[in-house]
Formats: sequence, structure tokens, C-alpha cells
Amino acid sequence: PGIDIYSMRQSLGVVAGITPFNFPAMIPLWKLAPAIACGNAFILKPSERDPGVPMRLGELFIEAGGPAGILNVVNGDKEAVDAILDDPDIQAIGFVGSTPIAHYIYSRGTASGKRVQCFGGAKNHMVVMPDADMDQTVDALIGAGYGSAGERCMAISVAVPVGRKTADELVKRLVPRVEALKIGPSTDAGADFGPVVTKAALEKIRGYVDLGVKEGATLAVDGRGFKMQGYENGFYMGGCLFDHVTKDMRIYKEEIFGPVLSVVRAHDYAEALGLCNDHEYGNGVAIFTRDGDAARDFASKVRVGMVGVNVPIPVPIAYYTFGGWKRSGFGDLNQHGPDSIRFYTRTKTVTARWPSGIKDGAQFSIPTMN
Ligand code: NAD
Repeated sequence: PGIDIYSMRQSLGVVAGITPFNFPAMIPLWKLAPAIACGNAFILKPSERDPGVPMRLGELFIEAGGPAGILNVVNGDKEAVDAILDDPDIQAIGFVGSTPIAHYIYSRGTASGKRVQCFGGAKNHMVVMPDADMDQTVDALIGAGYGSAGERCMAISVAVPVGRKTADELVKRLVPRVEALKIGPSTDAGADFGPVVTKAALEKIRGYVDLGVKEGATLAVDGRGFKMQGYENGFYMGGCLFDHVTKDMRIYKEEIFGPVLSVVRAHDYAEALGLCNDHEYGNGVAIFTRDGDAARDFASKVRVGMVGVNVPIPVPIAYYTFGGWKRSGFGDLNQHGPDSIRFYTRTKTVTARWPSGIKDGAQFSIPTMN
């Protein structure tokens, strides 16, 4: 009695965000908007591969009247990242990118006492049950597998049809659709997808397709030879489709991050669920079915952070939070939504008593409710 206790959340001070090449506006905004709204100053270290959009975000912030020093864009690669990791004035770091770098930043940042959340790579499965609407399933796989040339952390890169009949039907329908994908310059609004980000990325993706053939998967559609007329030196690649991929193959275990979809055939639902659960990545996953029981069981048992039921890319809107499990996410809190407010603030708790309430003289124990 006579004592008030209350908590407040306060800003951290200076915080930093390190972001990948894909979604060069959206991912910086996931971080800088809640960080600044919570009262922090923000240092953005965008990808060195496409810093133009983040620079423009900084200009827009100034044009809109944002105070100087609150949003800062620092360009660079590992050297800039290491300077952020070692700077004692930076209180927190939010990272999005590949898993090896996510792990590096999480380990080194937390070792120096910073608050860190890191989101990494993915291998997102889509389970296709025998009762799924096949038209919708094929549309979903084409969009989610090949949109943005597969360079999305929520892209579907593995289709898991359940039962042989489902698999045969799915592959039969996918082949002509993958062959018909329209590839064009990013400025062509009618193109299904454009070039991949760099020559190194193109070589890496082609290398994975070569590897898949060597590993014994069936290359049902081969997009390796695709050349874009008028852009022969561009980083273009056609859609590729692998069938009969197995879980011991590297093309299944590793993230390819290109327009390559693998079909892994499962005998039954339990095997399909097991594939999703055993994979080292756990970013997004989907199930296509008309069976509510199966969908509910899947959503509850799958060890993946974001689950879609007949939704191939289940990216939650901002009232929820975005984050993967297992090797797709390091740290306790997700990004955007309510978790971002928790991440960019810390709790202070005040216990207060006023002179008129102080009657007991010296007290040698902590206050109790006698
Ligand atoms: P990346 O890991 O190469 O780069 C990300 C950031 O890390 C960049 O800012 C880069 O400068 C920095 N970086 C690169 N190498 C570094 C090093 N050795 N030391 C310190 N910093 C380094 O990733 P990327 O190729 O730009 O982006 C694609 C990856 O990001 C994919 O793996 C994709 O799945 C992942 N991604 C994940 C999410 C998610 O929310 N989980 C979202 C988008 C992309």
C-alpha cells in the first residue's frame, strides 16, 4: 500500500539495420520505420548490390522533414558491417540476408552485448494433398516458385505432392507452364520475371542445376540455355523444374535462390510433414488441400515460422510478425508488427512512494504486502 509500480518502454538509442539485395525498400522499411517510431536513431547498411533504393529512402526522409541524424544510410560491405558490430554506441542490430552471415552477425553482435535479431535463408516447401484444387495449386506454384526469378526468401522452392497420382498430375501440368514463362527486362510489365541480380548469382544457380542433373534428379524443364534477345550479356535464366528430387541431394538441402523448383514425391502426408520438419530451414511453408483436418494438423505440427493454407507465400501483414524458425531465424523476436516494438525498446520499471506514505522509519527488508 502507498507504493505505485509502473513500467514504461524506452528507446534504445542508436540502432542499425543490415539488409539484403532483394526487396531493397521493403526490408529497410520493416526495420527503420518501427525503430524511428520508437524514438531511436537508425543506421541503415543496405546491400552493396543495389544501394540506390535505400539512398532514395534516406532522401525522402529528409524531404519529408525528418530531423538530421535520425536516419543514416551507410554504404559498404563486410567492412561496414564489422564497424557496426564493433561500435559500442550501437545498441541493437537487425539483419536480413543469408544464413551464414546471419549466424556470424548474431554470434559476434550478441557476444559484444548488443540486442540482435537475424533472419536468414530458406527452402520453403509446398505440400500438395491429393484433394487439392489442381488449377489453383499449379497457379500458386508458378507464381511462388518463379516470381522475382525465385529471389525471395518466401519463394516456394520445393513442391511435395502426396501420392503418385498427385505427383504425376502435378508435374504433367507444371511442365508446359514453366516452359511458357515469359522472361524479360525488369522494365517490361508483361514479363513474369527478370534477370537475376549478378553474374555470380547466375553462375551459382546454373551450377546448382548442373549439380542436380549429376545427383540424378530428372530435369523436366531446362532453362539454363535461355538467352534474352537484345540482352545477350544480361543475367537471364529460364525457369527450371526438377522431378524425383530426394532429400539427400544438395539441390534439396541448400538454398538455390533462383528460378528453380524441385519436386520431392512423398508417399503419404506423414512423410510430407516430416520433410518440412527435418529441413534445416524453417522460414515459410504451405499446404494445399480441401481437408480442414489435414490443414489444421499441419499448421499445428509443422516446425516452420510462417504457414500458408492454400496461400503459397504466407507473408503476414504488419499487425502480425515476420520470422522463420530453425536456421532461418536467430534471436527471440520477429521483425515488424508487435515484436518490432519490443525489439526496438527496453522496459524500465519504476517503484514510487511519496513522503506522506512513508511511516515506518528504516526498513531492512524489501517491501512486502503485510
Ligand atoms: P547476403 O547475406 O549476401 O547479404 C546480406 C547483407 O550482409 C548485405 O548487407 C551484405 O553487405 C552483408 N554481408 C555480406 N557478406 C558479409 C560478410 N562476409 N560479413 C559481413 N556482412 C556481410 O544476402 P543477399 O544475397 O543480399 O540476400 C539474399 C539472402 O537473404 C537469401 O539467403 C535470402 O533467403 C535471404 N533473405 C531472408 C529474408 C528473411 O526475412 N528471412 C528476407 C530476404 C532475404
